Amino acid sequence: MEGLDKVRILNELLQEAERCRNCPLWSERTNLVFGEGNPNAVIMFVGEAPGFHEDQQGRPFVGIAGKLLTELIESLGLKREDVYIANVLKCRPPNNRDPLPEEINACYPFLKKQIEIINPRILCALGRHAAYVLLGHTVNMNTSHGKYYQVDGRFVFVTYHPAAALYHGKLLDGIKKDFSELKKLYDEIIQQKEEQNKREEKEQLSFW
Ligand code: URA
Repeated sequence: MEGLDKVRILNELLQEAERCRNCPLWSERTNLVFGEGNPNAVIMFVGEAPGFHEDQQGRPFVGIAGKLLTELIESLGLKREDVYIANVLKCRPPNNRDPLPEEINACYPFLKKQIEIINPRILCALGRHAAYVLLGHTVNMNTSHGKYYQVDGRFVFVTYHPAAALYHGKLLDGIKKDFSELKKLYDEIIQQKEEQNKREEKEQLSFW
């Protein structure tokens, strides 16, 4: 799918999400937080749910956890605009409580479609709720963080939620180390893509 088609289809999905009444969270939100970023991103980050600032602005990860996420993205040699950022839930749960299973089920079709449209090679699960949704089972964050798994032809990389890393100082080192592992995976994928492009160019030239 071409970039412009992706933008159009993502926009249609956003409008559908605006109208969604599949769980009660819509009634208390200030803004829907659909997600944002590069529709052709190689990496897509998935958080838990909008917090206060995200709900106010209608954008993901714009509070203090967002500042850390932006720094971590930059540690990959990327800018925020290069990646796509979304959440498991598109509406803020009251008082930032954990998402309920029925809310996750109601919202999952939107995340699933976002993933299909953007078609990233790497999904980075930020925290246990995102890991649960992207891997399809509960995970022990202590043993799963910093590792990747293959799901439906993509890599699902698991790390801590940036807010958890800010809250529990000892996880901060962990999340930084995880991102250096993520960088290795990302660099490898980019290198493979470049080699593939070169091979295709050569084939084209020999064809003509
Ligand atoms: N925490 C999340 O999980 N998502 C956001 O967008 C902000 C904070």
